[in-house]
Amino acid sequence: QWGALRKTLCETIGENNYKAWIEPLRYDGLENGVATFGAPTNFVGTYVSQNFGDVMLSQMNALSGDSVRRLHFRVVQGANETSEPTRSAAAVAPATPAAPTSPAVAPAQASSDLLPGAPLDQRFKFDSFVVGKPNELAHAAARRVAEGGRVTFNPLFLHGGVGLGKTHLMHAIAWELRERNPELNVLYLSAEQFMYRFVQALRDRRMMDFKSIFRSVDVLMVDDVQFISGKDSTQEEFFHTFNALVDQNKQVVISADRAPDEIKDLENRIRSRLQSGLVVDLHPTDYELRLGILQTKVEQQMAYNPGVTLQDGVLEFLAHRISTNVRVLEGALTRLFAFASLIGKPVDLGMTQECLTDVLRANERKVSIEEIQRRVAEHYNIRLSDMIGPRRTRAFARPRQVAMYLSKKMTAKSLPEIGRRFGKRDHTTVLHGVNRIEALAKSDAQIAEDLEILRRALEA
Ligand code: ADP
Ligand code: MG
Repeated sequence: QWGALRKTLCETIGENNYKAWIEPLRYDGLENGVATFGAPTNFVGTYVSQNFGDVMLSQMNALSGDSVRRLHFRVVQGANETSEPTRSAAAVAPATPAAPTSPAVAPAQASSDLLPGAPLDQRFKFDSFVVGKPNELAHAAARRVAEGGRVTFNPLFLHGGVGLGKTHLMHAIAWELRERNPELNVLYLSAEQFMYRFVQALRDRRMMDFKSIFRSVDVLMVDDVQFISGKDSTQEEFFHTFNALVDQNKQVVISADRAPDEIKDLENRIRSRLQSGLVVDLHPTDYELRLGILQTKVEQQMAYNPGVTLQDGVLEFLAHRISTNVRVLEGALTRLFAFASLIGKPVDLGMTQECLTDVLRANERKVSIEEIQRRVAEHYNIRLSDMIGPRRTRAFARPRQVAMYLSKKMTAKSLPEIGRRFGKRDHTTVLHGVNRIEALAKSDAQIAEDLEILRRALEA
């Protein structure tokens, strides 16, 4: 029942709270009326119990027929390891883009009466979307579509990994279009909702209504279209709807978590139609973009938690240590601010580490020595065999030392182990290489830059 409980909880306490507090929990079962949960830190357990305990208890009882008397939280290592946070958020989020009780969200905006669209999230507008290198193309394309006017590319196909801003951009397009022209029939929904409505229409024998509704919109936006892979009749209907709109020169915007040619079990004619407009991807966020996003979100958090202050270096630390998914980044910030406002101290690095141990641990990228060797060889344009081979000319020795250095810094491997992996070299050779590069990084700008590039590529 944990799945069901999570879903209803997300709806009642809002997506932000859900992400920050419920997602990290693990449900360990019910015994003698006591429901036990594993929490990643003591703080999370206490916070959840104080703030959401009552709601959880009553919802659990509603779901289980009053069998729960008490909730118990205990600290466990890696509480949420079984369900990767980004994935489980994604599973819930698309169905409820605007959690009704979340403070920043206005009530669902009813478009026109009949249209079965999904509500738009107030927070997802262009002015809150931070633009950086990884998303600038997607952003520019979305802007262009949002201007309305002549349809230049159809469809616009946005793709990218979880939490990189696809849904945000789609909502932003819809908001902007509606603002510019309230008459316009803009329909946004997820592919899952499209399927659901289609099935419902079939069941109720209302296919004519279904077709006429979907074919009379001015702009159709379908989110997470990978969902219809393998669902033949839904694909068929989607294809017809799509064609009818494109033929009338109506704008269609599609998103997916991967490129059209990577979506499995999709009819070829659909795939090629999806590719026939403009396909742009949102790349994984880089450090600068993450920092920019954090700075923007901190301002919002400050508004909710007046009095909380942030010490220098905290945002940089988070931008550095938390991987690409912006949703995870937001969840971390929300929790951090709640923590700080509760204990009434400024946020510093120590507090950040304590409060976010689980998130930070989950984001530790495990880099292997092989990966380092491969990347470094590529970077210096030498063969992998020369990287680990016996030759000691400078053209090979320097890259080798760089790779040894990175292996020492980025993996937990010991010097002897690293030595073995570099063609059975002695640990003193490794130590010498590490020291050499460490010294050079301070005096040689080129080496410093190489290290920076390689580090980033390996961390990405
Ligand atoms: P996706 O649909 O690609 O999985 P979302 O659009 O739902 O991702 O984004 C996840 C969260 O991250 C949302 O809260 C969104 O507002 C935020 N987000 C993503 N990219 C940006 C960005 N560039 N600027 C500001 N917020 C962003
Ligand atoms: Mg999405």
